[in-house]
Amino acid sequence: MRRALVAGNWKMNGRVAQNDELVTTVLAGLEQQALTERVDVMVFPPSIYITQVEAAVRESDLSVGAQNLCEFGDGAYTGELSAGMLADVGCSAVLIGHSERRAMFGDREQRVAAKVKAALSAGLTPVLCLGESLEQRDAGETLAVVSGQFRSAVAGLELSEIVQLVLAYEPVWAIGTGRTATPEQAQEVHAHLRVLLAEQGQNVADVVRVLYGGSVNADNAAALFAQQDIDGGLIGGASLKAKDFLAICHAA
Ligand code: PGA
Repeated sequence: MRRALVAGNWKMNGRVAQNDELVTTVLAGLEQQALTERVDVMVFPPSIYITQVEAAVRESDLSVGAQNLCEFGDGAYTGELSAGMLADVGCSAVLIGHSERRAMFGDREQRVAAKVKAALSAGLTPVLCLGESLEQRDAGETLAVVSGQFRSAVAGLELSEIVQLVLAYEPVWAIGTGRTATPEQAQEVHAHLRVLLAEQGQNVADVVRVLYGGSVNADNAAALFAQQDIDGGLIGGASLKAKDFLAICHAA
């Protein structure tokens, strides 16, 4: 009952000409294989290229999101972008709580929660990223870590807001390392997230999609997506290559 979703997180990569080529090739492949009839597909370019990509995909089923937003409304926040601005230029979603932002840019629990709230208030779908470090996994803390991240992000939300989230489980040790979680390791955490969603309400667990992210590629995607509680993927490196990204969409 949940539609598969494949989201490409370009991170801090791309140039105007390169983006054009990537998007054109992805659009052609999606159309050729009629992939968007059964899979939702999104790309998250660096903010400065959102308008470029949005113009290229406007007439298609490919949607565009942002990689980050500021939790405050418009005003004196030099260098930042508000949820309202992202919605204004055609974003439908925004990544929140990515481990790179948690580790390097101060996106701690309270700020993550505020960003989720800001996204929802502008009508953007928050793609809430969660995941444990290698140290935490080795200490047996994985489920406790993702529980804490989930609970603090949704604490101030209404049920009608929680159902609008997308979750992305991304073990930090699997991001950009080529070391993917096994389908069983991923499913264990996804099933746990499904239980946490069900605590909010069974309909929440039924509708909220939980993506897996961390070194997903054209070869391992199908086995991951075959797991019961994995509803698609958040794809970093492999989303920069049209052929690989299309193969992953095909596997979803
Ligand atoms: P990766 O990144 O696919 O390059 O591991 C995933 C992510 O960080 O979203």
